[in-house]
Amino acid sequence: MKFSAFTLLVLSMLAVPGRADDVDRLVGAMLGETPILDDLRSLTDEVGGRVTGSPANAAAVDWALARFADADVTARAEPFEMPRQWQERAVRAAIGGDLEWTPDVVARPFSRAADGLAAPLADGGTGTAADFDRLGAAARDAWVLVATPELNDEVGLQGLFAEFTDVAGIAPRALEAGVAGLVFMSSRPNNLLYRLPDLNTPGRQRILTMAREDAQRAQRLLRAGRSLNLTATIELDTGGAYQAANVIGEIRGRERPEEIVLFGAHLDSHDLGTGALDNGSNVAMLIDIARQIIRLGLQPRRTIRFALWNGEEQGLYGSWGYVQRHRAALDDHAVATSTDIGTGRITGFFTGGMPGLVPLVDRYLAPVAGLGPFQQVDIPLVGTDNFDFMLEGVPNLIAMQADANYASNYHAESDTFDKVDQQQLKLNAAITAALIWGFANDDARAARHTRAEVEHLVESTDLGEQMRHFGLWADWEEGRRGRDSE
Ligand SMILES: [Zn+2]
Repeated sequence: MKFSAFTLLVLSMLAVPGRADDVDRLVGAMLGETPILDDLRSLTDEVGGRVTGSPANAAAVDWALARFADADVTARAEPFEMPRQWQERAVRAAIGGDLEWTPDVVARPFSRAADGLAAPLADGGTGTAADFDRLGAAARDAWVLVATPELNDEVGLQGLFAEFTDVAGIAPRALEAGVAGLVFMSSRPNNLLYRLPDLNTPGRQRILTMAREDAQRAQRLLRAGRSLNLTATIELDTGGAYQAANVIGEIRGRERPEEIVLFGAHLDSHDLGTGALDNGSNVAMLIDIARQIIRLGLQPRRTIRFALWNGEEQGLYGSWGYVQRHRAALDDHAVATSTDIGTGRITGFFTGGMPGLVPLVDRYLAPVAGLGPFQQVDIPLVGTDNFDFMLEGVPNLIAMQADANYASNYHAESDTFDKVDQQQLKLNAAITAALIWGFANDDARAARHTRAEVEHLVESTDLGEQMRHFGLWADWEEGRRGRDSE
């Protein structure tokens, strides 16, 4: 794709000061012709879906190191420990009883295995406490089918967070009821399947996602008084702890090399699609920004790190590993960011309950004001790789993006290269480049939160509730994650 006419249009929209300084040159380069889409096509179509622990994920690490090397960006793989291996090898299910057919299913990450496990199929409503009360003893040793509200791009990210919240309540109820297995209706129509990890009862029960049409048919039959059963086989590759690696690209600062400005996106994905929106796009974006900084010969005052995380989808393990490895240097981290909402327009940044970041971000985005408007939102959010930086008190950001087509393709077979908004990805790269350059060169810095300030943030916001939904609360409460007391 050529961007020349498009670039001119965008440059004319930008509030470029009279003198083209470094940030304007960088922004202009991001909007010009670059290999960003070639990189993204290669990562998604050739490396493919890249679950941490899989050969494809190891290939993705090599791919990223090679891309940085081609761009003359210094880069290294930094190992970290993953707690458990989980991949689906094969899954099949058959409905029997009054009617017989073969529904489409996938296993939820961290589900237990099953070997032709046959049990009655029970209508679990929407999986509320009242639904399990109604089922009573009938839930025990049954496959319990739970209906899910439709997730589409109208409901967007709000619907996606609601699905996580609902599941966080349902999974423990099913475990307590002693079900043979839990069968979630897919939230997406047209037989679309996706992986939503079991973050709430990991490794403790069998959980399937069934195609929405199959699940609705089964639900209608059960409600019409028909008797159905389900036989399912879930074959897995599972194992204990192992080593994975993040890829860290680095451009050393010329004045304050010990001070770090860290921009991150996760390299891993799920395996049904090829991880284009989540999160190959933003990996390609960071590599491209590093490439253009080097190509233009720009020298930042602080060191810029481009962090391509692994283990994100299974519990934010790569960024946690980084925080543990670099704990002694966290005072020197001026900021740590995460971009992880596909290619929707960047509309501002979540500043994580650190109001001191807002004026800095406002100022750094001024050179790309024509690509806005931008509005910073100062709330803490859980769900991506800023998390451990937030618990460590390090100034952290998440790119806030328009919902676009993120939710409907989330973790699904359909998250492929064709879903990427190519023009918006270029604009987001320009926005992110301006922000990086601001953080890397400004005299000012936001202060790191103390342990007491982090605790206050947890207590005064819904941060704790969000951590529970994502299965992260125990790690904080039991002191495995978070800043030590001074
Ligand atoms: Zn993601």
